[in-house]
Amino acid sequence: MASLFSRLSGLDGKGYGAYKSITGRYDMGSMTLVIDRVQSDPYAPPSKFHVEVPNPTPELNPVPVCDHLARRVSEAFRGHRDLSIDAPGQEVLPTAACVDRGGTLHIRFFVHLPARGRRILGRTAAHLVCNDLPEAIEEALAGFAPQSAVKLYNQQEEMRAQLGDLVAFVADGAILPRATGTSPLPLASAIPFCSPASLRTNLAGVLGMGIPRGVTVIVGGGFHGKSTLLNALSLGVYNHTLADGREYAITNPTAVHVRAEDGRAVAGVDISEFISSLPTGADTTRFTTANASGSTSQAASVMEALEAGAEVLLIDEDTSATNFMIRDARMKKLVTAEPITPLVDRVRALWRDHGVSTIIVAGGSSAFIDVADTVIAMEDYQPHDVTEKARALAEDVDEQADFSSPQARVVTDLRVNHGKRKKRPQAKIKGEIRHGKDSVDISAVEQVVSGSQAAGIARALGWVEDHLDGHTTLAELASESADHTADLIHGSSHPGALVQPRALEVAFALSRHRGLKI
Ligand code: ADP
Ligand code: MG
Repeated sequence: MASLFSRLSGLDGKGYGAYKSITGRYDMGSMTLVIDRVQSDPYAPPSKFHVEVPNPTPELNPVPVCDHLARRVSEAFRGHRDLSIDAPGQEVLPTAACVDRGGTLHIRFFVHLPARGRRILGRTAAHLVCNDLPEAIEEALAGFAPQSAVKLYNQQEEMRAQLGDLVAFVADGAILPRATGTSPLPLASAIPFCSPASLRTNLAGVLGMGIPRGVTVIVGGGFHGKSTLLNALSLGVYNHTLADGREYAITNPTAVHVRAEDGRAVAGVDISEFISSLPTGADTTRFTTANASGSTSQAASVMEALEAGAEVLLIDEDTSATNFMIRDARMKKLVTAEPITPLVDRVRALWRDHGVSTIIVAGGSSAFIDVADTVIAMEDYQPHDVTEKARALAEDVDEQADFSSPQARVVTDLRVNHGKRKKRPQAKIKGEIRHGKDSVDISAVEQVVSGSQAAGIARALGWVEDHLDGHTTLAELASESADHTADLIHGSSHPGALVQPRALEVAFALSRHRGLKI
């Protein structure tokens, strides 16, 4: 460490490029500092550093241990402008910010190496790297006690594993609404969740509302908390951190939130279960478009979710195409040339033929109560089981026609306009992946939680680009490339800010890639 201090001090006043010489490993007593990659100039993205320390709790599940430590390091870096770490959000996921490699924790972060103009500020750098940095890491490690975070994480995993005949569960006392439309923190003044007696169940020791498999409809007046409940269920595929409020909102891990998304690209998706005989004569068994409509986009997204292995679909009227959802009797009489069979006429067949459950928010139409197994009414932010009441109002409907399962698409090509230099896909925000000169819009892929998770998806797409053989299905590519992201996160080198995505989100990003050929 003393030698690093004097080397950095000695660089004072030199050109910025001279910083490159400090790349390497340094023994700092209780920890090893590794300078992985030095930024090329003061305006480039900051340098990549990591610290290696023995894992003080090697017997505990490393995912929550590492998540907890990354949060503490982020706290300790506060007030140090030049030190940063990719702090986890409300979800607890494998993150490159901290991993356990064979009993050693690798804490990966970013250091902006100081300069005046393009000259090295050597003494400032020496203090930053040799004093401030190890002090902050020591502060994060002092009294590091991940036990309660680990216990909570394991409990959530156990609850999800024990869902059995439930597709989702929300504990009594859960806080579902968020502080604001852009803040993922809990709303301070929220009314805690309270389960209706008829749906109350005990999941691995926790009491709350169980949503059974089948077709569930959430009804209720506007502003009574329907979308808030559905959004909590949608993120219930992930574990949540202490004091989030949604710790015990637990959903089947394959659940997919599907919405309308006009303008998206669709490649070779069989949407004929919902849409046939379009006026253009387009083949809807291999539907391809660069500009989908609301209904065709939503039909494609449902079929893609099924292709990727979703056992549960989550659908909100707020973000759906009305003509994809329902069609009433009078409109059936008035308009006979209708290519769309709405979801309400397919949803039971989906459950009967494939065991795929659906949870639909529908406050504006009674059509779904005819096909529902369970009807939950949200009133003043509280759920009520109105299944019996709804059944009394329900009308008999015809048995739905068979629902044929989607064919697995085989990816033949992923065309990317790279210009002069091939660059791998990148993401900085959660809604967009840049790939070559093009971008993949994933803003409607609802269960992407952060820019770093989008970066995890981007790295997976890069793997797909390099490993196409023209014979592999999209679902297999998604799963193998998501594993590649996991390898990067757990690998020996500092991969930057990366959070693990599900293979499902990788499949949905790939499906939206405008260079995808089926
Ligand atoms: P809906 O979909 O039924 O129209 P939302 O779910 O969008 O209603 O909720 C409407 C508003 O109420 C939102 O601002 C939301 O944050 C707030 N809200 C939802 N649940 C609660 C709750 N349990 N306590 C307090 N406010 C809530
Ligand atoms: Mg709503």
